[in-house]
Amino acid sequence: MSEQQQFDVVVIGAGPAGYHAAIRAAQLGLKTACIDAALGKDGKPALGGTCLRVGCIPSKALLDSSRQFHNLTHLFGDHGIAAKDPTIDVPTMIGRKDKIVKQFTGGIAALFKANKVAAFYGFGVLHPGNVVKVRQHDGTEVELKGTNVVIAAGSDSIELPFAKFDGDTIVDNVGALDFESVPKRLGVIGAGVIGLELGSVWKRLGAEVTVLEALPDFLAAADADIAKAALKEFKKQGLDIKLGAKVSKAEVAGTGTSKTVTLTYADGAGEQTLVVDKLLVAVGRRAATKNLLADGSGVRVDARGMIEVDEHCHTGVDGVWAVGDCVRGPMLAHKGFEEGIAVAELIAGLPGHVNFDTIPWVIYTEPEIAWVGKTEQQLKAEGVPVKIGTFPFAAVGRAVAMGEPAGMVKIIAHAETDRLLGMHLVGVNVSELVHEGVLTMEFSGSADDLARICHAHPTLSEAIHDAAMAVHKRAIHKAN
Ligand SMILES: Cc1cc2nc3c(=O)[nH]c(=O)nc-3n(C[C@H](O)[C@H](O)[C@H](O)COP(=O)(O)OP(=O)(O)OC[C@H]3O[C@@H](n4cnc5c(N)ncnc54)[C@H](O)[C@@H]3O)c2cc1C
Repeated sequence: MSEQQQFDVVVIGAGPAGYHAAIRAAQLGLKTACIDAALGKDGKPALGGTCLRVGCIPSKALLDSSRQFHNLTHLFGDHGIAAKDPTIDVPTMIGRKDKIVKQFTGGIAALFKANKVAAFYGFGVLHPGNVVKVRQHDGTEVELKGTNVVIAAGSDSIELPFAKFDGDTIVDNVGALDFESVPKRLGVIGAGVIGLELGSVWKRLGAEVTVLEALPDFLAAADADIAKAALKEFKKQGLDIKLGAKVSKAEVAGTGTSKTVTLTYADGAGEQTLVVDKLLVAVGRRAATKNLLADGSGVRVDARGMIEVDEHCHTGVDGVWAVGDCVRGPMLAHKGFEEGIAVAELIAGLPGHVNFDTIPWVIYTEPEIAWVGKTEQQLKAEGVPVKIGTFPFAAVGRAVAMGEPAGMVKIIAHAETDRLLGMHLVGVNVSELVHEGVLTMEFSGSADDLARICHAHPTLSEAIHDAAMAVHKRAIHKAN
């Protein structure tokens, strides 16, 4: 064991939350270390966490590849573009994704260097007195003492006891981002963000995809109108989504490339079976806090392993903070970004703050789904009086010219003050459009503010303009 090294800030985890905390702390002149245990596909340390290695970025790379293929095989004909017998070379597609991942994980290492963040590669354990002992990949141990410690350990996939991950036939996101060929039949347990995004990737490439969701409602967190519109589009695409389907068994049979999984599930019609070639289990994620906290660290975790923090991400232990997926709130990279920055600023004596009411949510399916603020159902349950304006992309010139008429914008304002309370979208590129709602809400704007802001024509954002005008029954391009 080498002698103890002293830092102002020691960050455990270099995912979105951790690397933001580390870089911002270093920018503010604090002597900072960041520890990460992860290895890339090449067996070398890879910074950037779930997001860069096996989450946000690789999934979007594959969504983009599969979208290009789908457009070529299904939509290009409308433009008079013909391609004879197009094929998809899966290893090339995966190779492209891996290259993007390497570029970005390497980018974090470069940013650490540029900002003088000391990187340690190994598994860190928090001991009493803000001491983090790191078992490095070469087998040596280092001891880091931080005036402050920021825990950003992230999350891991939840495994079902009857469908253990084997990295080949029954997989989580890591395996589903690396299939060597297009599975003929893909089963997905869980119609959440990850199940829908990765299910879409393989569906567009030709797999028969069946999604089994235990809950009776589709995308219960989204506004009901948006979820309904999205479900209609997914069904049109042939994504077979079975709601209220509770899976109880997954039996693997066969060998090599002829392995199959027989799923047993119960729905309204009784017990059913489904045979698939690959199974993606996407039933949620849990905080990665196993073995992280030594006895006496003082940091409390709840029954689900999540670290307990206050609204400023403080754990209650002097100088110990926690951010990102391992604490309450949505498991989203950008929520972790903001918490990481806020904590670094609080440590430096600045007024760091995260506005949890304006965190945008995005699902990168086609059409995309995005929202900020509360749903109509939440507001009604809270007894808040609302006015609502909607507008379909089918009436937006740019969307139709792009061949993307699916979806709508729904704007919810307070019935008395007109303050914007929610913006809900389903359609093309709504992952970008939702920020109009975020900005308006951050500035405490109203539906009328949005309606009076000049929007360029022809753009997709005109749907927001007309939806805002529809709140006051003065939309121009539809009957009010
Ligand atoms: C398939 C998929 C797609 C996703 N797509 C999106 C998306 O489009 N947009 C979005 O906002 N979110 C998305 N997410 C969620 C997003 O990836 C997470 O919310 C985000 O990565 C959480 O950041 P984090 O820093 O809290 O944790 P993580 O990214 O999980 O990083 C934690 C890091 O800490 C390391 N670590 C853990 N414990 C220790 C320890 N004791 N010692 C040393 N190192 C440790 C881990 O190895 C890891 O590298 C997606 C997730 C998945 C799985």
